[in-house]
Amino acid sequence: MMKKKDCIFCDDEQIKATMIFEDAQCKVILDKFPTDKGHMLVISNEHYDNMLEAPDTAVTHMYKIAKRYGKLAMMKLKSDGMTITTNIGRSAGQIVMHFHIHIIPRYDQKDPSYDFGSHREISKEQRDNLLNMFKE
Ligand SMILES: [Zn+2]
Repeated sequence: MMKKKDCIFCDDEQIKATMIFEDAQCKVILDKFPTDKGHMLVISNEHYDNMLEAPDTAVTHMYKIAKRYGKLAMMKLKSDGMTITTNIGRSAGQIVMHFHIHIIPRYDQKDPSYDFGSHREISKEQRDNLLNMFKE
């Protein structure tokens, strides 16, 4: 398994508190600084700096997983829309240089406890509620 030292997404200890799903190729975790309620990330198990560096099989698989959790989020959180995207490079807003896909549920009526743009850290209560909802 290709891991990178000092990469937070390669550090299983760092992410296990927010992990929803794991298989041989990827994990689904809650974003620690959600831009909207239910903001999740699909992260590769192996370290690739971004999507362009990852093999097609990993990209395809991870988008399938993103679709699955996107659908689940629409259902369980009753979101009105969804942003599924990946950022490549700092200029595109990539903060952690490890391939990940954002799943961001969008709402016509914003939940006031989520402050879009400020990326406030998720509260323990919000985190536990979402983990209960999405963990299999
Ligand atoms: Zn990494």
